[in-house]
Amino acid sequence: METKIKMMSRILILPLFFFLVLVVTSCYVSKDPQRAQTKKLQKGIIKDDSSYVYRLPYEPGESHLLVQGYFSRYSHRNRAALDFKMKRGTKICAVRGGVVIRVKEDGDKGGWNRKYRPEGNVVVIQHEDSSRAGYWHLQLNGALVNVGDIVEQGQVIGLSGKTGYTLFPHLHFISWKSNRGQWRQVATRFQTNKGILYLRPFRKYRNTNQTN
Ligand SMILES: [Zn+2]
Repeated sequence: METKIKMMSRILILPLFFFLVLVVTSCYVSKDPQRAQTKKLQKGIIKDDSSYVYRLPYEPGESHLLVQGYFSRYSHRNRAALDFKMKRGTKICAVRGGVVIRVKEDGDKGGWNRKYRPEGNVVVIQHEDSSRAGYWHLQLNGALVNVGDIVEQGQVIGLSGKTGYTLFPHLHFISWKSNRGQWRQVATRFQTNKGILYLRPFRKYRNTNQTN
């Protein structure tokens, strides 16, 4: 009898293990209600879209790999953020015109540790509809604009880097909207050389050649 119980428990252990793995990994998927909406936008299911068309945050004709997208696993689980892989010193361009409201460029350290978070250099720009865009991980002295500057869409505003909480050099980009004083991160559509798209991870996106 005892051996039978042992055998039974052995047989059950493996499925139980896989079940637990499934439960644990499914917890990694974001619960944010915006995630489902964003998926529909990415797949082109939602056709009625009059939202602003952003430019890609790099120079005309350039192409970069999107390594993390909206609400994707890892560090963007609850963020409508984009990570573009790029070499240090790549020119970062404004996705939309506006006023520079925040600049930090004195950080010079970065790495895969939360202790580096305050080192992250950033430029934040406020647009005319009061939405905002933030450009993170810029290199030391990598902000090419000052607070109060008016910038145009496509203007070079900084140089990418690896400052702050990051494993490799990249641009972390977020756009926010305010709803009755509550700021929330939002997915935005971009002009690419293949049309206007909601970007998806693990794809390269090339900027159009046209300049503003
Ligand atoms: Zn990121």
